Amino acid sequence: MNDVSHKNFTSAGSVTATGNRGLQIEEPLLFEIGSTNFTGVDVEEPEAFESRLGDVERTDMMGLPGLSEPETMRHFVRLSQKNYAIDTGIFPLGSCTMKHNPRLNEKMARLPGIGDIHPLQPQKTVQGAIELMMQLSDWLTSLTGMPAVAMSPKAGAHGELCGMIAIRAAIEAKGEADTRRVVLVPDSAHGTNPATAALLGFSVRSIEAEKDGTVRASAVRESLGPDVAAMMLTNPNTCGLFEPDIAEISAALHEAGAYLYCDGANFNAIAGKVRPGDLGIDAMHINLHKTFSTPHGGGGPGAGPVVFSKSLAPFAPLPLMARDGDGKLELIEEKASSGEARPFGRLTAFHGQMGMFVRALAYMLSFGEDGVRQASEDAVLNANYLRKLLKDTMSQPFGDRVCMHEVLFDEAFLKGTDISTLDFAKAMIDEGFHPMTMYFPLVVHGAMLVEPTESESKRSLDQFAYALKALANAAKRGDKDRFKSAPRFAPLRRLDETRAARQPILSYTPPAQQAAE
Ligand SMILES: *Cc1c(COP(=O)(O)O)cnc(C)c1O
Repeated sequence: MNDVSHKNFTSAGSVTATGNRGLQIEEPLLFEIGSTNFTGVDVEEPEAFESRLGDVERTDMMGLPGLSEPETMRHFVRLSQKNYAIDTGIFPLGSCTMKHNPRLNEKMARLPGIGDIHPLQPQKTVQGAIELMMQLSDWLTSLTGMPAVAMSPKAGAHGELCGMIAIRAAIEAKGEADTRRVVLVPDSAHGTNPATAALLGFSVRSIEAEKDGTVRASAVRESLGPDVAAMMLTNPNTCGLFEPDIAEISAALHEAGAYLYCDGANFNAIAGKVRPGDLGIDAMHINLHKTFSTPHGGGGPGAGPVVFSKSLAPFAPLPLMARDGDGKLELIEEKASSGEARPFGRLTAFHGQMGMFVRALAYMLSFGEDGVRQASEDAVLNANYLRKLLKDTMSQPFGDRVCMHEVLFDEAFLKGTDISTLDFAKAMIDEGFHPMTMYFPLVVHGAMLVEPTESESKRSLDQFAYALKALANAAKRGDKDRFKSAPRFAPLRRLDETRAARQPILSYTPPAQQAAE
C-alpha cells in the first residue's frame, strides 16, 4: 500500500497495518497509484510518420498514470463501494424520491434497438422510439389531465425553465412582456423556483406560508396585481402537505391574467389520485427520475418533461410529435407553420433523455394505472406510518397532522441537548442510514424531511424508526460525544462542504511539484 492511502484514516481507535478497515479499503487517487513511467497496456511502437499537426502537436507527456486493467477496475469498484445507494438501504432524502429502480426498466433500456440508437438517425429508422415517446406522453397527459407535454427538459430545474419560458412567451404574445415582471414564490419553495424566475429576468415576490405550512389564497390575492406574470407553487408542498387552496389560487391568478406554474417534483404523492389539470395548473414539470423510478443521485441523468394547459400548449418547445395520415410518426424539428403552434424555440439539441423515457414507460406499463395509484397511496401510507412511529420521539412542526409522501420533523426535540440537526444526521451515518434532507424547507427550524417512498417494506421502516428512536434517546440522555464526533465509522469524517463548493480543487498536483511551489 501506498503511504498516501492512510492519510484520511483517523477513525477512533481502529489502527491496522494497512490503514484499511475490514473490507473497507481506503483508496488513493489513480494518480497516486499509477505512475506516468509505466503503462498498463502493451501498445506497439507506431511506425514513423509525418505529423500534420504542425505547431499544435503535443511536445510533453500527457501525464496519465499507467495502470493495468485489474488495478483500474479495483479503483472504481472500491470507490463505488463507498457510496450509499438505494440498492444498499433506505435513502430517506426528502423531496428527492429515492425509490427502488426496478431491474426490468434497466433490461428494457438496454435492448439493442433502444440502447444503441442515435439521435441523428433518420426518423424512418426510429419509428419505434418515437412511438415509445408518444406513449409516454400519453401517460403523462392523462395522469395530469393536461393536453400537451414537452419531453426534452433534462431535469426538474430544466423543466421549470421550460415552463417559465412558455409562460413568458404567452405573456409576450399578449403584448404584456413589459408590464408583467413579477413571479410569486412561497417562502417554502425549493431554491430552484426563485432561481428559475430570476434567471429569466423576473423579479421574485415572496409569499409567506401560514403557520400550518400551507399557502392561503387570500395571501396570493393580496400580492396579485397587473405586474404579476405567474406564481410558482409546489404541490404537495415542501412541508409534505397538500395545498388546500390550490384551486382557489389558480382561479385568482387566472382572473388577474397570470399563470400558475406547479413544481411537480412531489407528484409521487398524488399520481393517479389527483389530476393537476383539474386544479387549474398551467405548466408543471414531472421528474421521471423521482416519480417514475429512473435512477438518480449520482446515477443520473434525469428527465423533466413539462405538461401544459390548453392556454400554454401552443408555446411548447420543439420538437413536436405528430402522426401523419398514414400513421407515420414524425418529430417536427423546425418551427411548425400551421395551426395554433407557436413554439418558443428549442430547449435542447435533441429530443430528451431517451434512456429515461424507456425506464419510465416500462415502470408505468408494469404497474398499470391502478398500480401507479397504489404506489402514491403506499408512499403516503409509509410516510404516515413513520410519522406515527416517531410521534413521541421527534417533534413535528405542524402537530399531529396527516402528511403526504414525506414527513417533516424539526429540531425542537433536541432542545437543551446542544445537539443540532446536522449532528443528528451525521450520527445516522454511523447507524448505516443515509441522512434525511436537512434544513429544508427553510420555513422550519432545523428541518428534517423524511421521504421513505412506497418501495420500503414495513420491516425496513421499523428498522429505520428504531434507529431514529435510539438516537433521539441517546441525545436526550446527554450522550453528546456520539453526535459531535459522528460520523465515526464512515471512510471520511465531516467535510468542509462549503469550502469544497466555493473553492473546488479540480486538478491534481504531484507531491514533488507541490513541494517545489
Ligand atoms: C428535485 C426537486 C426539484 C429539482 O429537480 P431536479 O431534477 O433535481 O432539477 C425542484 N423542486 C423540488 C420540490 C424538488 O424536489
